[in-house]
Amino acid sequence: MRGPAGSSGHPGRDGLGLGTRGASRGRARPSPQGGPLLRKDPVVGAAISPLSDLQSLLTVYRPDLATELTALDAPAYRYQQVYEHLFLRPGEPFAQATALPIPTRIALDSYGESTLSSDASRTATDGTTKLLLSGSDGLRLETVLMPYRDRSTVCVSSQVGCPVGCAFCATGAMGFRRNLVVGEIVDQVRMAASLAGRLGRRVSNVVFMGMGEPLLSLQAVLDSIRILTDPHGLNLAHRSISISTIGIPGGILRLARAEPQVNLALSLHAADDRTRARLVPPRFRHPLAEILDAAWEHFAITRRKLLVEYVLIKGVNDSHEDAHRLAGLLRGRVVTVNLLAWNPILRSTGTLSSSEPDPAKDRRANARDLNRPILRTLAAPSRASVAGFRDTLSAAGVKTVIRHSKGSRIGAACGQLAAQHDSYFPYL
Ligand code: SF4
Repeated sequence: MRGPAGSSGHPGRDGLGLGTRGASRGRARPSPQGGPLLRKDPVVGAAISPLSDLQSLLTVYRPDLATELTALDAPAYRYQQVYEHLFLRPGEPFAQATALPIPTRIALDSYGESTLSSDASRTATDGTTKLLLSGSDGLRLETVLMPYRDRSTVCVSSQVGCPVGCAFCATGAMGFRRNLVVGEIVDQVRMAASLAGRLGRRVSNVVFMGMGEPLLSLQAVLDSIRILTDPHGLNLAHRSISISTIGIPGGILRLARAEPQVNLALSLHAADDRTRARLVPPRFRHPLAEILDAAWEHFAITRRKLLVEYVLIKGVNDSHEDAHRLAGLLRGRVVTVNLLAWNPILRSTGTLSSSEPDPAKDRRANARDLNRPILRTLAAPSRASVAGFRDTLSAAGVKTVIRHSKGSRIGAACGQLAAQHDSYFPYL
């Protein structure tokens, strides 16, 4: 269990992170030099971190925990208590798990503590809290806790940066560093649950809408869902989990079959391939027809309503004709369209270094973003055009809601998509 381990966050041979299930439980082979293997991501080509996924028991599915305990010379029948300690007393070292015998506590002492460290946090006036976290390799990621009247939602990251690189997205501008491993995804929720608990709340919903494209790291996402929904752990309902994608048809179908109760959100942002080509780089861009075919197949399998996300950008995708085209694509389908006005001041900063908001630093970072040639060409739509877009869709019988960002004043954002966090809450 110690040492370098499997690569569940690593895209599989099919390039969709659909490699061997349970890979997170495997052991990585040491390199000939004795160090951890450096691996090349087959999709994005970049070297990915040799970060161990088994540095923490958080990555172990409960039924497998007994086996892992045996390997640690700890009594297998204690697995239930160990699991409850991990998830019901997050962050507490095993040394304090007084329900366990002392030898077991000693054996487990280096496990169960966080795979991530908390570098900073910011809380907005609406209660939204952004956690800036870092992995053991120092790479930073963001998690957002959003409290609502009747629920608390955590927005988790699945990658550090994003290989897709959408033109309107600050995360995409960061480039891609690596996939998160299962334990890191689970730990984001566990840390947010700990924060929620201190506020007298319980995390009820999870959206994979933070940094990264979840369907490009699907196996780690699926493994983490299995752990997050364990009734003896965080006990989240499958139906309270949503996965947002830019549109990876193979991943959509795999998700439908693997987790039919999990919600799918499709970031469409355009109603024709030509417009979409301005927003989504070619490497991970699929034809709209293929994406929608996969989405309808997803519905046929799951019967779950599709959420369509559409960021309106002035002069790019916000015309009356765009609305008509989108209506033509979605008419008669079980969907809700969430409209969001592109907002040039939203930014997901990876450079936050203190717990205090730093408006000057944010302004500089935003200026850097705005200096990107494509971003210089983007502009927010007028209120009238957003309302007109909604009216056109609604008149065609397509349920459409205008959403507003939550926590954007603290940069609780996955690029421009972060503002869509708000989109999910009415449905979950
Ligand atoms: S919008 Fe989503 S898929 Fe596109 S670059 Fe940003 S995080 Fe990646």
